[in-house]
Amino acid sequence: MRSALKLLMPLLLTLSAVSTVVSAQTASPGEPAVRGAPLGVMKVQGNVWLIAGAGGNIAVQAGDEGIVVVDTGADGLTDAVMDAIRTISDRPIRYVINTSVSAQHVGGNARFAALPGGSLSGKTRGAKVRIIAQENVVVRMGEVGKGGTPAYPTEAWPVDGYYVPERNLVFNGEVIDVIHQPSAHSDGDSIVYFRGSNVLVAGDIYTTTSLPLVDRARGGSLTGLLRALNTMIDIAVADDLAEGGTYIIPGHGRISDEADLAEYRDMVHIIRARIADLAGRERLSLAQVKSRRPLLGWEARYGHAGWTTDMFIDAVYDEFRARRAP
Ligand SMILES: [Zn+2]
Repeated sequence: MRSALKLLMPLLLTLSAVSTVVSAQTASPGEPAVRGAPLGVMKVQGNVWLIAGAGGNIAVQAGDEGIVVVDTGADGLTDAVMDAIRTISDRPIRYVINTSVSAQHVGGNARFAALPGGSLSGKTRGAKVRIIAQENVVVRMGEVGKGGTPAYPTEAWPVDGYYVPERNLVFNGEVIDVIHQPSAHSDGDSIVYFRGSNVLVAGDIYTTTSLPLVDRARGGSLTGLLRALNTMIDIAVADDLAEGGTYIIPGHGRISDEADLAEYRDMVHIIRARIADLAGRERLSLAQVKSRRPLLGWEARYGHAGWTTDMFIDAVYDEFRARRAP
């Protein structure tokens, strides 16, 4: 027994070292703590449901042709996510769409890709699940860390990495627009618009729980994030008497309407202008910018331990820092 343990120890140590590398690779700055099971399931509008609590919000479109899942939640919660999907539909899953490579949005990818016939109910005939994402998501997943292993196993990688500005599909009689938002939260962000259901899935470009999530290490920028918020406002239509308005599913937090989105956009616009002014025009240092409190008015509402005001300014300062003339 002891000798068996001796043999196992180096293996266990190697495994824990690898998993440390993997989590360092996949950590995304700013995402709030995962709430975990039991997950919340609610119908949003039309053919679209929301699954909440598995890390990033998950959107599900279900109909006769099968199921589309937007984002797959945090690692370790995939069983609960699959249980939640079963309460919505027993049809096979045909597509997974990732809004970005953020850890709480791709954690279940490998498990979904491995489902025989895309089925959660044991019927195994039919095509495999196709994972769609902007191609930078595929690139980021393949980045090799210090341990020599890619950030994610190949099974988790999107097989359908699109590089055009927009990827459209028709499924369950509904047009679905998957639209790249360059250099916003990251360099691989997609927003997903279900036209018939009139539901827009924002990913981490928009949250109701955090200061803007700018992942600079993965190509994000506050300027691009603001541009993406404006694009979403262009797509969204406000509630107009008899007609229902567009519902927006944020990366984290509660279902929103266009007015909520506009309020968040206004905040980002003001914060960006303040920081650009302090860091760019006034040429202040990082510490000086922080001391001027450019997020005043929103610190208490949106700041949280995982993504504080300081962490946010650290992330975006360099974008606006005055450069020396060449
Ligand atoms: Zn997220």
